[in-house]
Amino acid sequence: MWFTSDNAGPAHPSVMEALTRANADYAGSYGADAIMDGVRAKIRNLFEAPDAAVYLVATGTAANALSLACLCPPWATIYCHRNSHIEEDECAAPEFYTGGAKLTLLDGGHARIEPRSFEDALSFTARAGVHNVQKGALSLTNSTEAGAVYSLDQIRALTDIAKAHGLPVHLDGARFSNAVAALGCTPAEMTWKAGVDIVCFGGTKNGLMGVEAVVIFDAKLAWEFELRRKRGGHLFSKHRYLSAQMEAYLDGDLWREMALHANAMATRLSEGLLAKGADLQHPTEANAVFAAWSRDGHRAVQAAGGQYYFWPFNQSLDGPGDEKLSARLVCSWCTTEEDVDGFLNCL
Ligand SMILES: *Cc1c(COP(=O)(O)O)cnc(C)c1O
Repeated sequence: MWFTSDNAGPAHPSVMEALTRANADYAGSYGADAIMDGVRAKIRNLFEAPDAAVYLVATGTAANALSLACLCPPWATIYCHRNSHIEEDECAAPEFYTGGAKLTLLDGGHARIEPRSFEDALSFTARAGVHNVQKGALSLTNSTEAGAVYSLDQIRALTDIAKAHGLPVHLDGARFSNAVAALGCTPAEMTWKAGVDIVCFGGTKNGLMGVEAVVIFDAKLAWEFELRRKRGGHLFSKHRYLSAQMEAYLDGDLWREMALHANAMATRLSEGLLAKGADLQHPTEANAVFAAWSRDGHRAVQAAGGQYYFWPFNQSLDGPGDEKLSARLVCSWCTTEEDVDGFLNCL
């Protein structure tokens, strides 16, 4: 009953088999391996983007920070939600890799940026010319840090505003697959067709050992990304082991299958919690559930081995039994119905 995060589970067996296959022979280094040639072709095909540049890195933080550095100069600002991962969970890596760009924090329910908040911030930026930070880039996250999903129209509404101001758009897709699976759309529809310029196509949270693909639709940025990746220490020499994981992910659309399963488990958990009298803090639209239930219920489920985080963290099992405490529960490709039902049966 592990619901701490979707990175807490094991990697999918197909991924480990692909690693073992990749380990059988010599291969070109630094991304010049034959497996990567296949990955590049498959990702271009999947995203319907024959000219896209495709790179692999091992963490989402590197993927985001290197991408944003290609989009935003040091004297500009990145517009993002105030609960976004780049703001709350990356130890200022975006600021560091951009060489000091600011983040401008925007509002909106369920970690989705409200277009009005973006427009207000834009109208306030660079109002005194050279004295202010300039407009840099827009960064979105889908699915969001609150387990919600931007619809294609909601993405378009934001990217239209960005384009009207000449700003490029980055999509943090640590849970890209969960969002695509939830929307039932294609990867192209959720990215370049909706105005996204760079996407971090996450793998680690969805069954890989540690790989994220950065897909750059404007190939003019490709060389800069390569230089930044090397300079930042994120170019792997034994790159074939990253390629092999991504190959397994793409093969037979394993990424989609795993995401559909994770989302289905979250729906089951969410509905079960509601039936037990819990309140939801955010709608369950992808693979994460944000719910509040009684402290006595938390005691019971934790005594039975349930693993998850209080959300926010600063809550405790000490106190009145009927008081409600809120938690985050994240499902993954390997969450089982037994895990979910076992958890619910404790309540
Ligand atoms: C997990 C996550 C990342 C990447 O995190 P790393 O720990 O650096 O791999 C990026 N964005 C979001 C929204 C995430 O949840």
